[in-house]
Amino acid sequence: MGFAVDDNTISGVNPRFAVVGAGMAGLLGAIKLREAGFTDITVYEKADRLGGTWRENTYPGIACDVPSHLYTYSFAPNPDWSHVFSPGAEILGYLEAAADRHGVAGLVRYGTEVRRLEYDGSRWRIELSTGERDEADVVIAATGVLHHPRYPDIDGLDEFAGPLFHSARWDHDAPVSGARLGVIGTGSSAVQITGALVDVVGELHLFQRTPQWVLAVDNPPVSDEDRARYRADPTVLVGLRDELNANFVQGFANAVVDAGSPALMRLQELGIANLEEHVADPDLREKLRPHYRAGCKRLIISPNFYDAIQRPNARLVTERIDRVEAGGVRTVDGVLHELDVLVLATGFRVDRFLRPIEVVGRGGVRLDDLWTPRPYAYLSVSVPGFPNLFMLNGPNGPVATSR
Ligand SMILES: Cc1cc2nc3c(=O)[nH]c(=O)nc-3n(C[C@H](O)[C@H](O)[C@H](O)COP(=O)(O)OP(=O)(O)OC[C@H]3O[C@@H](n4cnc5c(N)ncnc54)[C@H](O)[C@@H]3O)c2cc1C
Repeated sequence: MGFAVDDNTISGVNPRFAVVGAGMAGLLGAIKLREAGFTDITVYEKADRLGGTWRENTYPGIACDVPSHLYTYSFAPNPDWSHVFSPGAEILGYLEAAADRHGVAGLVRYGTEVRRLEYDGSRWRIELSTGERDEADVVIAATGVLHHPRYPDIDGLDEFAGPLFHSARWDHDAPVSGARLGVIGTGSSAVQITGALVDVVGELHLFQRTPQWVLAVDNPPVSDEDRARYRADPTVLVGLRDELNANFVQGFANAVVDAGSPALMRLQELGIANLEEHVADPDLREKLRPHYRAGCKRLIISPNFYDAIQRPNARLVTERIDRVEAGGVRTVDGVLHELDVLVLATGFRVDRFLRPIEVVGRGGVRLDDLWTPRPYAYLSVSVPGFPNLFMLNGPNGPVATSR
């Protein structure tokens, strides 16, 4: 390398940075690089808008499941969140405003996918979907974890006669009002869709493979008075964020990575109490009861899932899916669940990280080979043999239960 970074000062040359991805992490990377005094930065974004997750997921009910006043950049508190857990579109607006305010929106090159990265002994050579090439001293990959939709291996998906789409590719032209809607999956997206649409559709069929631990947390609006208070005195907002952060780290983040922790036991008790108190029918209750410890999968935060699934027009289907047919989903017991619209809320390919970018490091070593059978990284950030290539939200970076 022809430069050294010491206490945020740059000696030698002005290094060139390429950031891959303009989601929450890539934008943060660009903001912090500028703060540190670097000026030669390009953020490559394959889509035509920034925001990553919050641009792509537009399904009914999408909202943060971390309190909004915590789900913000620490240096950019937002007094105007509408709810304790604000809707996705608001988060997208927040990220766009933050990128503008912090001077990085203009660094983003949209519609430009990074296809290949090769280390030539001193710099990274970058191949782009536009056919252009670039070079950078440092590459920061912020390509997302919950980014590549995972499509289930179910026979007949292409035979379904009505609209069929992944939750991260919501078809807003699909008529759901009064329709017979099928949702495959019971993760956070499926639960949010169920809560948002059960009173809109004619019938809602939720296909469950694994019951979830569901914590009932209300999502009230933030009052006008509180918002005015946050605007008038930013220290109140900072205090609120610190408090939420302490509670979240102690009561949640630390808990889910320590199977024996009292905090995780408490979360488990809360999940059981939610189930026992809110699900009246004993058969349904047993179908919804998880048979594994809380924290093995991402916990579900929902103010209304159990109410929604007990509506007269909602059905929880626990029989295994045999195949999809033109008219609906057939389960292994031979029953055809007739549907007009089918949503695959089947999550994401969480082992992708930088892939499908072809990454070739020192000595021609391919990252894809190194990551067979599974991805690894030093502190989730870097991989030996790939100098000055850093990942945000790399392997094991997000909380373990995201995967
Ligand atoms: C439905 C849903 C709900 C979620 N809710 C929460 C929540 O409540 N709380 C929470 O903490 N987290 C939540 N998450 C996780 C969320 O993904 C992260 O919080 C955060 O938004 C991730 O930001 P990111 O920048 O790392 O990735 P992303 O937001 O995925 O952004 C990655 C960006 O990189 C771009 N990109 C990828 N590959 C390339 C390439 N080769 N070339 C150019 N550009 C590329 C993508 O187009 C995208 O814009 C949720 C995720 C989903 C899917």
